Amino acid sequence: MTFWYSRRCPRCGGDLYLDEDETGRFYVCFQCAREYPIEYVEGLAAEKAREAAAEPTEKEVAVAGTRR
Ligand SMILES: [Zn+2]
Repeated sequence: MTFWYSRRCPRCGGDLYLDEDETGRFYVCFQCAREYPIEYVEGLAAEKAREAAAEPTEKEVAVAGTRR
């Protein structure tokens, strides 16, 4: 099974792909060939997901603000 993770390189913005060697799995950038620990890239992705998840919450706050 192949998973494609659309993660972006923090340095150049290129696509990252998941690679593996004897030390374990890590992300590698297609463009600049830099390697990143999975936890680091997932942390960035989780941050973005939190930002996206925060949008409906803002709406909820606005609705709550109109209530007396
Ligand atoms: Zn890069």
